Amino acid sequence: MKIITRFAPSPTGYLHFGNMRTALYSWLIAKHYNGKFILRIEDTDIKRSSKKYIDYIKKDMKWLKLNWDEGPFFQTNRFRLYKKYLNYMINNNIAYKCYCSKKRLLKLKKYQIKNGIKPKYDNYCLKKKIKYSNKYYVIRFNNPKYGYTTFNDQVYGNIKIKNSELDDFVIVRNNGIPTYNFCVVIDDIEMKITHVVRGDDHINNTPKQINIIKSLNAIIPLYIHLPLILNIDGKKLSKRNDDNKILKYKKNGFLPEAILNFLLRLGWSYGNKEIFNINDMINLFNIKKINKSPSTLNIKKILSLNKYYMNNLPLSYISKYLRYFLKKNKIKMKNKTNLNIIINNFIKHFNNIKEMSLYFYYFYKNNFKYNYKLFKKFINYKLYKTLIILYNVINNIKKWNYKNINYSIKNISFKKKLKIKYIFILLRIFIMGLKECFSIVKIIYYIKKKIFLLRIKNGIKFILKNKFYFTKK
Ligand code: GLU
Repeated sequence: MKIITRFAPSPTGYLHFGNMRTALYSWLIAKHYNGKFILRIEDTDIKRSSKKYIDYIKKDMKWLKLNWDEGPFFQTNRFRLYKKYLNYMINNNIAYKCYCSKKRLLKLKKYQIKNGIKPKYDNYCLKKKIKYSNKYYVIRFNNPKYGYTTFNDQVYGNIKIKNSELDDFVIVRNNGIPTYNFCVVIDDIEMKITHVVRGDDHINNTPKQINIIKSLNAIIPLYIHLPLILNIDGKKLSKRNDDNKILKYKKNGFLPEAILNFLLRLGWSYGNKEIFNINDMINLFNIKKINKSPSTLNIKKILSLNKYYMNNLPLSYISKYLRYFLKKNKIKMKNKTNLNIIINNFIKHFNNIKEMSLYFYYFYKNNFKYNYKLFKKFINYKLYKTLIILYNVINNIKKWNYKNINYSIKNISFKKKLKIKYIFILLRIFIMGLKECFSIVKIIYYIKKKIFLLRIKNGIKFILKNKFYFTKK
C-alpha cells in the first residue's frame, strides 16, 4: 500500500510552529515510507481565507524544503466533486435538507439548556421529511443514532464516542458552501490519504468524520493527533503572537535546518539525540515516539540550534545566506572575495544571520551614517587627540598584520596612560559606528589600512560638521 499523507492548512493566518510541525511530521511519514505528500488548502471559510496567506504557506514550506508531491489543491475548486457526493448522500438518506429557521434552532437550544439537555439538533427535518422548493436550507449529515464510534489514535490510543452524543451536524451551509468536516472527508477519501496528521484540537471532529467515511463505505485512515504546543508561560500558541510565526524566524536570519530540527524535537525524541539532519529525520522518524503530553516552545533552544547550524554548515552555504541579507541592505558583494574568511572569524559571535548581516553592513559600507548620540556621549578632547595619534601610527604600519596593529594600539594606550578599553570604544565608534562590537582589532585588520584611514577621516569630518566642542581637560 502506498502511504499518502497531506498537510491541509486553512489560509487564515501565517503558519506558526504548531502548523509547521504538523506539516513536518506528515511530510516525514510520507518520506519515511517512500510515499506521497500532498498540500491541500482548506479555503472554504471564504471570509477569513486570503491569497496572501496562501502565498506565505507555500513560501514558508519551500523555505523549509518541505516540498509537496501533489497540489496545492484548493477546496474552493472542488465544489463539483462535493456536489456529486452530496447528491448521492441525499438520495441514499445519508444526508438531508434542513429548513429549520434560526429562530426555531435558537428556541430549541434555549429549551434544552433550561432543561439540562445537551444542546443538539432534534432531527426535526429528518423525521418530517419535508421538502420546499423556495426556502433556504442547510444539509445535515444523518449521523448514526445508536452504538459507538471508535478509533485508535496513534498518539492518544483508543477513543470511543457514543453516537447519540453526536449531532446531525451541518455539512452544507445555507449559502451552499460545504463545511470543513464534510470537505475534509471527501478529500481524504478521494486523495486516498492513509495517515491523517493534525493538531489534537481536531480530535472531537474525528468521530463525525469517521461516520461520514463509513456511510460512504470508504477506507478509514490512521489518525495521528498531535498534542498542543505551549508558550513558555504555559499558554496555548496564538496565531496572533508574532513569536510563533515561522516567517518571523525566516526574516530574522534563522537557518531552515535549525527550525526543522527544532520542530522535529517539539514532541518527538530519539534517545538523547539532539541534532538531526534531514536524512536522519527521514530514516529515524517513527510515529510511536510522538509524545502524548504538550510540548513547550523554548526560544532559547531555537537560538542554540541556530548557533549550532551556523557553526557547522559549510561556509559557502552561510555566505550565500549572508549575501542575501546584505543585498537587502543594498550592500553589493562584488569584489568582496574575503567574505568566507571573515565569516569564519566572526561567526561564533552571532545568533542568526540577520544579526551578522548588520555587522557586515558596517564592515562593508563605507559611507554609513554615524550615530550622533554615540559621538556626543563618548568623545572628549583627550580621546579626540588620541585618535589623531592613532591615525598616524596606524598609517605608518609597514607590515599590515594583526600583531602590528594590536601592538600599536597597546603602545598608545601605555604612552598616553589611557585605558585600552577607551581606545577600543573610540575605534568601534569610528570604524563601525557601533558602541559595541567584537574584536575591533581583527576588524581593522580585515578592513585594511585604506578603509581604516578613510573611516577615521569621515569620523573627524562628522565631528567638525556637527560642531562638537570639547572642554580641554
Ligand atoms: N484545515 C484544518 C486546520 O487548519 C486542518 C484539518 C485537518 O488536517 O484535517 O486546522
